Formats: sequence, C-alpha cells, structure tokens
Amino acid sequence: MDYKDVINQIYNEVKPMWGQGKVADYIPALAMTDPRQFGIAVQTLDGEMFTVGDAETKFSIQSISKVFTFAMVLRHLGDKIWTSVGREPSGNPFNSLVQLEHEQGIPRNPFINAGALVVTDRLIDLYPRPKEAILDFVRRLTGNDDIYFDHTIARSEREHADRNMALAYFMKSFGNIHNDVETIIDVYCSQCAISMSCVDLARAFRFLANEGVNPLDNEAILTPSQAKRLGAVMLTCGFYDESGDFAFRVGMPGKSGVGGGVVAYIPRNLVIATWSPELNPHGNSLMGIETLERFTTDIQNSIF
Ligand code: GLN
Repeated sequence: MDYKDVINQIYNEVKPMWGQGKVADYIPALAMTDPRQFGIAVQTLDGEMFTVGDAETKFSIQSISKVFTFAMVLRHLGDKIWTSVGREPSGNPFNSLVQLEHEQGIPRNPFINAGALVVTDRLIDLYPRPKEAILDFVRRLTGNDDIYFDHTIARSEREHADRNMALAYFMKSFGNIHNDVETIIDVYCSQCAISMSCVDLARAFRFLANEGVNPLDNEAILTPSQAKRLGAVMLTCGFYDESGDFAFRVGMPGKSGVGGGVVAYIPRNLVIATWSPELNPHGNSLMGIETLERFTTDIQNSIF
C-alpha cells in the first residue's frame, strides 16, 4: 500500500492545530524547542518508508526510551521482571508518587516513571556500561550509528530531577531499587535525552511489529511471546492516564514522550512515528495523537 498520499493529507489537515498544545517546560532545556515542528514517518515491514514534514529532524525521545530499556531488561530477565514491576495501567500522571505507598514500592507498569526507574536499575545490574549499552541497542535496531544523547537536555533534566529522585528513594526504602539513586537518575536522564528522528524511531520499533525479530540482521531481540506482551503493556499503559483514550481513538500499541514523539504499530504490518512538540494536558503530543487517529481511520486498519 502507498501511504504517501494518506500521510500528506493528514499532515495538511492536522497542521492548523499548531498553538493548541503546550511544549513541556518542567525540563527547562525542552522548553527551548521550537513548537512549530511536525513530522510523520511510516515504515512498512516490506521495507518501504514514507515521510512528510520534519520526519528527519532529531528530537528528544524522552519516555519512548522506556520501551528500549524495558526490552533490554526483558530479554535478560524474562518473566522475573514482573515481580518488581506490574503490568496494569496506573490511571495516574506519568510522574505520580501516590500509588507506590499502597503498593509497597512495586510500580504499576514499566512505562510510568517509577516503573522505568526500576527497569533502569535492573539495566545497571545487567550491563557494566549501561549508557553505552543503550546507545548500542538503539543503533543496532535502527541501523544508524548517528544516534547520541543530547547532553544539554540530560543535564537540564538531572538538575530538575527532584521528583524522579523521590520516586527512586521511596522505592529503595521498599527494597525495589538496588543501585545508588544518583547513578540511576544519571542513566535515566541520559536515556530520555537520546535524540532520534521519526525515521529513526519508525525503524527502531520494527522488531516489535515483527514478532521480536530485528529485520536488519534477523536477530531475535525478544521471543514472539515477549513481543506480544510488550505490545499489550504499550496498548494499556503507553500513554499514562490517557492510555484508554488512545486505544479508543487510535487502536494501536504505542509509546509517547514529553519531547512530543509518538510511535505506534500494527503487528506484522507497519510502524508509524510522529513528532510535534506541543503536548496535551496528559503530556502526550496533541497533534501526534490526532495524526494517529486519522491514520488508522483513513487506512481502515488497526489491531482491532
Ligand atoms: N524524562 C521525563 C521525565 O522523567 C520523561 C517523561 C515523559 O516523557 N513522559 O519526567
């Protein structure tokens, strides 16, 4: 199928929504992003790529990195990871502290900040050089070695990480964090500050649409069952307290980040990545979600 016309049309229809959302400013370096940017990339598993707008511009992937670190840990720990992090939607904002006390320091899922911090903690247990390992993993998935951390954004987040540090210390008090909190926050802020484009992200998510296998070198990153489960967690938890609405409107598993990126996919078919920095009140890209809703509507295909 030729997706070029579909995404061109959506791009033109959605573009007038500029100005309706708000760029994330709780990380000061992110607040400097020019809000008027918008890109879409569709990668089919047949190997075709379709793009429109700022699809090649690199941006801060932020919480989309949680999918990569979770996949890295899942492939080593397998089902054991589920004793430290759950797989239920939280119904709360991404950086919320409230459930942790009732649930003895076990975060609801790996895609809220608390869950991602536990995952990064396990990643530090597993890899002697965790930051290099993350970059390596993402480069291998995309086939692009030109992927780096944006150190300005990482530093800016580290300087404003009180809430994430509070989450990590609180979980440590329950024994669900093993490593030094400063180290975890350092790795976490770096992973969030990876710069990638829509094209990179659409390539990087192919293994999830492809039953766990990276089509670039046929390496099994995850088993088909792990890929299926990771998709289920993305569908139910990938958009924080907007996950139900995203499933309702879009009908694909996916993940967003406060940098304005959203990646979603239809298993065995395609990956779509969008980027527009203005966010809605849940911290998800306003135009990104609108784009994805129109996409599955127009192509009359989703996971349902
Ligand atoms: N680095 C951000 C944070 O921890 C990521 C949040 C997000 O993208 N939702 O606050």
